[in-house]
Amino acid sequence: MNQVALITGASRGIGRGIALELAAVGWDLIINYSNNQAAAEDTVNCSIEHAHKAGHEIRAEICQGDIGQAIDRQRLVDFVRNHFGRVDLLVNNAGITSIGRSDLLEASEENWDALMAINLKGPFFLCQLVGSWMLEQNNLDDSWRGKIINISSISSGAVSTNRGDYCVAKAGLSMVTKLFAARLADAGINVYEVCPGIIASDMTEPVKLKYDKMINDGLTPIRRWGKSSDVGKAVVALAQDYFPFTTGDVFNVDGGFTIRRI
Ligand code: NAP
Repeated sequence: MNQVALITGASRGIGRGIALELAAVGWDLIINYSNNQAAAEDTVNCSIEHAHKAGHEIRAEICQGDIGQAIDRQRLVDFVRNHFGRVDLLVNNAGITSIGRSDLLEASEENWDALMAINLKGPFFLCQLVGSWMLEQNNLDDSWRGKIINISSISSGAVSTNRGDYCVAKAGLSMVTKLFAARLADAGINVYEVCPGIIASDMTEPVKLKYDKMINDGLTPIRRWGKSSDVGKAVVALAQDYFPFTTGDVFNVDGGFTIRRI
């Protein structure tokens, strides 16, 4: 029986990259999305194709749901229970950038609330819902192991004064990771934070020219844009239990962005 991964926001970008990499090592997938059903279906089809090429038979299904809404989060987890009967990995990936990218001194409370619901509250309560179900699975079989991976950002540490809400949400997600790592460790559930750097996706498309120049000028020692597959490969390594004696840890996938240089 294949292991089962629930990936939020897997219709496009980094979530899609994670789905394709997990498919290639034989995971069944639930592809969550918010609006873009056609893209979610394309992720499913490409995942199944990827798995076949690598010699695996997998199941992959889409499930719409706004992770900022409690009722949708519950429906999403119920969908996984009813269609797959188990969950071995939750990837909290769905997120939005700062709405309007306003300066700190002008940012609105309304935009703050909208971003926090998706980027921080949603992942926290999905950790709670899925973590509780994982505890049940471990109670039934104490050799069973689960994983939760939160896709944070270099913005959890690096400031952008025109994206304050985004930075605060990602810093909060770091603490969410440590909290659930401490709470769930006794049940064999490891919780990780993966911090992507500058990754090519629809989210970064509007600021492409700015980052092209910064990367070219040496912002990161590895002088290229990150790819969604770079993040996907890191997730696979964690999901496949290659770091069994770790939990609550941060894995940077950022081309060396965090190295201080003089
Ligand atoms: P993206 O290209 O904009 O894709 C966002 C994905 O999240 C889409 O699948 C979208 O679904 C989904 N989504 C958005 N709001 C949602 C909601 N309320 N409920 C459920 N799904 C929702 O973004 P990305 O660049 O791949 O970013 C993915 C994650 O990585 C985010 O958490 C982001 O903060 C983080 N990250 C990105 C970068 C980067 O450079 N790109 C760097 C660091 C961290 P639809 O297709 O239905 O709209």
